[in-house]
Amino acid sequence: MIEDSFMHKGLRRKLVDQVHSKGISDQRILDAMLKIPRHAFIDSSFLKFAYQDQAFPIASGQTISQPYTVAFQTQLLDIQVHQKILEVGTGSGYQAAILAEMGARVYTIERIRKLYQTAQSIHRELGYPIKFFIGDGYQGLPSYAPFDRILVTAAAPCIPEALKLQLVTGGILVAPIGQRDCQIMTKCVRTGEDTFEISTHGSFSFVPMKEGLE
Ligand code: SAH
Repeated sequence: MIEDSFMHKGLRRKLVDQVHSKGISDQRILDAMLKIPRHAFIDSSFLKFAYQDQAFPIASGQTISQPYTVAFQTQLLDIQVHQKILEVGTGSGYQAAILAEMGARVYTIERIRKLYQTAQSIHRELGYPIKFFIGDGYQGLPSYAPFDRILVTAAAPCIPEALKLQLVTGGILVAPIGQRDCQIMTKCVRTGEDTFEISTHGSFSFVPMKEGLE
C-alpha cells in the first residue's frame, strides 16, 4: 500500500510552488505533480529527499530526474489528452506517471530489467494504464509507432535517427543532447516526411543513454 498522508501532500504543495516559481506555467503539469506521490518512487528510507527539487539516486546507478526537469521536458512536449507518447528511459517511472496523469497514452522503455520491474510494480498500485517495455530505446518501439510525442530522459550524443522516424508528422521529440556532463535540451518537430525543425532550450545534466540491454 502506498501511504499518502497530509504531510506528503503538504510537501508536494511546496514542491509544486517551487517548480512554478522557476518558470513552469502549464497548470496541467503542476496539477499532475500535485497529485503523483513522488515518494512512492524513492526508497522509503529517503523520504525527506522525495519532495526536494533535486535529482536523486535510484537502483542500478540511475537517477529519478529533478522535478523541475520533469516539468520542463513535459512543458516542451506540449502534450494533449489521448496522445500516444513514447518515453525512453523509464527509470523510476515517475515521469511516466506525470504523462499518464495528464491523459496521455504512455509507452515507456527501459534497458535495465530491475528498474523495469520496480517501476511496473509501483504502477500496478497507482493504477495508471502505462505500457512497459524492456529494450534498447535507441531503436524505439517500431511495432507501436508512430507516436505523437517522444520523450528521451537519458543523454544521447545526437537525436537517434530511429526515434525521429517514429514521430507522426507534426509530432514532437524532446531529448537532452550532448556529452557526459552537460547536454542541451533539444526539441525536434517533424514537419514533413524528411523534414525536422530543431530548437534548443538550455543546459541540463542526465545519466547517459547506453546501447543494448544491461
Ligand atoms: N524518466 C526517469 C529518469 C530516468 S534516468 C524517471 O522519471 O525516473 C534515465 C534512464 O534511462 C535510466 O533508468 C537508464 O537505465 C535508462 N536508459 C539509458 N539508456 C537507455 C536505452 N538505450 N534504452 C532505454 N533506457 C535507457
